[in-house]
Amino acid sequence: MSLHFPVSLVIHRWCPLVDSTSLAPIGNSRDGKIAHLARPETISAFRHMSAAARAEGVTLHVIWAFRDPRLQREQFEEAKQKHGSRNGIRWLAPPGFSEHQTGWVLDIGDLDDPEADDNPLFERTKAFRWLKGNASQFKFELSFPPGNWQGVSYEPWHWRFVGTSEARSAFHPAGLRAIWVWGRSIAEALRWWLHP
Ligand SMILES: [Zn+2]
Repeated sequence: MSLHFPVSLVIHRWCPLVDSTSLAPIGNSRDGKIAHLARPETISAFRHMSAAARAEGVTLHVIWAFRDPRLQREQFEEAKQKHGSRNGIRWLAPPGFSEHQTGWVLDIGDLDDPEADDNPLFERTKAFRWLKGNASQFKFELSFPPGNWQGVSYEPWHWRFVGTSEARSAFHPAGLRAIWVWGRSIAEALRWWLHP
């Protein structure tokens, strides 16, 4: 017997949900209405990174950071309406499976180019070019590069912090933990594929 994954299967990795009382403010939305939250280590690494970027004339701006599963559920439903029930999952993770619930993830924009916030235009920005060359020095990595094996849409704005062993093992599980995490993630992917 051979197992063929349907080409449309999209696998969002199961992620730990951070205790929201441990989060701190990392910046406000452009309209000032939402105060974004992240883990202290994410905030500290981002501050160092944005200072280095600013010294080179690039202003990084946090568009989203922590997102709780309740809000994730609302946005996931919106994505399904916008992109179709089979395709919404390419753009947004189902609740419980979003990297944004870890407190280690930032959607980053370019303060000088609001039109490119949270969409593929972000590739054209100075901020993206700078991040591509420098983010790894500050222990940030792109979660969903083009053609990623998980089948998630390319998201040039979505960066995760991997500067602690806890964060690394969440995003790059190894050994038995990897079997548990990916098993759970694939089961969820199949569930959404069968009942979009
Ligand atoms: Zn994101």
